[in-house]
Amino acid sequence: MSPASPIVAIYPGSFDPMTKGHEDIAHRTLSVADRLVVAVAHDATHRKQNLFTVEERVAVINEIFGDDERVEALAFEGLLVDFARGLGSHLVVRGLRAISDFEYEMQMAQMNQELWPEIETIFFVPEVEYSFLSSSLVRQVASLGGDVSRFVSPPVLARLRKKLGG
Ligand code: ADP
Repeated sequence: MSPASPIVAIYPGSFDPMTKGHEDIAHRTLSVADRLVVAVAHDATHRKQNLFTVEERVAVINEIFGDDERVEALAFEGLLVDFARGLGSHLVVRGLRAISDFEYEMQMAQMNQELWPEIETIFFVPEVEYSFLSSSLVRQVASLGGDVSRFVSPPVLARLRKKLGG
């Protein structure tokens, strides 16, 4: 990579839905990268009950970052390293909330390194108020009628209300 090449970072995940914790990680990434591709995974790596389709998740992320042309959400399936290579990116971003995230994240980063030695994974830690936040908690609380407006942006909130009623 020439020194003048723009740094493209890929932030992969399920984002079902994107939370303010995810947004925090995305903003931190933009302090070290020129562009950020939020890559919404088609096949969840672990079994989870999905609330939004991949297309809905991509659309809402693009709405959240609509004003920032450095950020783009795309759906992807297959190996992350192949997706990264296709975009000319060598940088994967993940978030670390707690020690409980660490083992899985470490395994994935090392497997990706095995698959393509040119890939690097960097981790960001969110603001402490988001360190307990997860998409699954948001789904759970919202489906029980709880107020999640502190944890997600207005475009996500609107879609949650539409999908779950209330
Ligand atoms: P996955 O199913 O791949 O874990 P997620 O959408 O749940 O996808 O998370 C994507 C990434 O964002 C993961 O690295 C996860 O640790 C991180 N993440 C999720 N929620 C938060 C949060 N509240 N603060 C910081 N990072 C987070």
